[in-house]
Amino acid sequence: MSAKSHIEAVYDQLVRRNPGEPEFHQAAREVLDSLLPVLERNPEIIDSAILPRIVEPERVVMFRVPWIDDRAKVQVNRGFRVQFNSAIGPYKGGIRFHPSVYLGIIKFLGFEQIFKNSLTGLMMGGGKGGSDFDPKGKSDMEVMRFCQSFMTELCKHIGADTDVPAGDIGVGGREIGYMFGQYKRIRNCFEGVLTGKGLEWGGSLVRTEATGYGLVYIVDEVMRDMNKNWEDMTCTVSGSGNVAIYATQKIQQLGGKVVAMSDSNGYIYDADGINLQTVKRLKEVERRRIKDYCDFHKKATYTEGCNGIWNVKCDIALPCATQNELDEQAAKTLIKNGCIITGEGANMPTTPEAAQAFLTNKVVFLPGKAANAGGVAVSGLEMAQNSQRQSWTFEKADAELRNIMRNIYKSINSAAEAYGMPGNYIAGANIAGFMKVAKSMMAQGVV
Ligand code: NDP
Repeated sequence: MSAKSHIEAVYDQLVRRNPGEPEFHQAAREVLDSLLPVLERNPEIIDSAILPRIVEPERVVMFRVPWIDDRAKVQVNRGFRVQFNSAIGPYKGGIRFHPSVYLGIIKFLGFEQIFKNSLTGLMMGGGKGGSDFDPKGKSDMEVMRFCQSFMTELCKHIGADTDVPAGDIGVGGREIGYMFGQYKRIRNCFEGVLTGKGLEWGGSLVRTEATGYGLVYIVDEVMRDMNKNWEDMTCTVSGSGNVAIYATQKIQQLGGKVVAMSDSNGYIYDADGINLQTVKRLKEVERRRIKDYCDFHKKATYTEGCNGIWNVKCDIALPCATQNELDEQAAKTLIKNGCIITGEGANMPTTPEAAQAFLTNKVVFLPGKAANAGGVAVSGLEMAQNSQRQSWTFEKADAELRNIMRNIYKSINSAAEAYGMPGNYIAGANIAGFMKVAKSMMAQGVV
C-alpha cells in the first residue's frame, strides 16, 4: 500500500470511528497530510501501524458530574479525560470548562497535545480533559462544589507519574486550587498531580505568563531572522484571557504595540496601545466584559462581534481565544492589510483554508503546536521542581522557557527544510513532534 493510500485509510477509519467530531477530524487531517513525505522516506512507520495507533486514544474516561447550586438545586454536567498517548511520558494536558465542550473537542485537543509536548523536548505524553460546565456567572462556592465533584471521579485516573492535568479555557488558579484540594483529601497524597498551582503550594513562577510569553518569544525568533524590530510592529491579539494578556504584556515589554483585544462578545481598539492594567483588572480581578474598557479609555472604541478584530490593520496577528476563530476571509483581510506574521496562541484558532492562505502569501505562520507550547513547557518545569522539592527563581524559569521556544523554532525550521518544505512550519511542527513519538512507539513494541 502506498503512503498516500495508507493515510487515506487511517483517516477514513478515524472518521467512521469518531462520527460527529469535526474538530478532531480537522486536527487529525492536518497532521496526517503533513506526514506523507515522512512515510515515503520511512516505510517502517507504516509497517508498525504507527498512524492507526496514534490516532486512537489509549484511554477515554467520561463521567457524570453532579453538584448543587446556590439555590440548592442539583445540576449535572459531563466530565471527560482523554489519555491519548504516553509513549514519551505521563499524559499531560489542560482541563477546559466551557459550554461548548464535548468529546470531539477534548479528542482534538488531546491529539494536538501529543505533538506539542514532544516539541518541548520534555518527557510528557498527550492528554486533555474538561467539562461542559460554564464557570461564567457562577459564584465561587458553586465553582468549588463543581470542581470537587469533578475531581472526585477524575482522581481515580490521574497521578504525578500517570497523568498531570493543568488549566485551559475556564480553568485558572481558582479552579486548579479547588481541584488540588479535593485530590489531596481523597488520595491523602500531596504530589504534583496538577500544574498551574499557587506559588505557596508547589506552583512554578512563570507558569501564569508562560503561554503568552512563549508565543512572543517564538515570534521574536522569527523577527530576528527577518531583521525586524518590535518598535515598528503593530499587533492585534484576540481574546483577553490568560494567553492573550501575557502575550500582550511581553509584546509591550519588548517595545511593540498592541492595538486590539477581544472577548467572545466583541473587540476593543485603542490606537494609543491597549492599557493592559485596565484589561487585567477587568478580566482577572472583576471578571467583567472587554466592552467596559471603553469606560476608562475614552478614545478607545468597542465593536460587537469578536471576529471583526481581524479587520484591524496590523503587522502581527496573534489569535489567542479559541478554535476556528480566524477564517479564510479574515486571513485575506489580514494579508491585504500587510500582516507579516501570524502566531497561534490558542489551539487551532485558524481554519485550514486560512492557514493555507497565509502559506500561499508568504505570511510567516506559526501553528499552535509550536507557538503555544510554552504553557505546557513550564508545566513540565513545574513537574520537575515538584519532583526535586524545589522552587526556581523567575529568572531561571523564564530563561528555560526562552530556551525551549528557541529550540522549538530551530526544530520546526529544520524539519520543514529536511522534508523539502522550507518555511512551512505547519509541516515542520507536525513532523518534528511526530518523529520522537513514533520512534518511541516503535521501540516499545505493539502496546
Ligand atoms: P481563558 O479562559 O483565560 O480565556 C479565553 C479567552 O477567549 C477569553 O477572552 C474568552 O472570552 C475568549 N473565548 C473563549 N471562547 C470563545 C469563543 N467561542 N469565541 C470567542 N472568544 C472566545 O483561556 P486561555 O487564555 O487559557 O486559553 C485560550 C486559548 O489558548 C485556548 O485555545 C487554549 O486551549 C489555548 N492554550 C492555553 C494555554 C494556557 O496555558 N492557558 C496553553 C496552550 C494553549 P469570554 O471571556 O467572553 O469567554
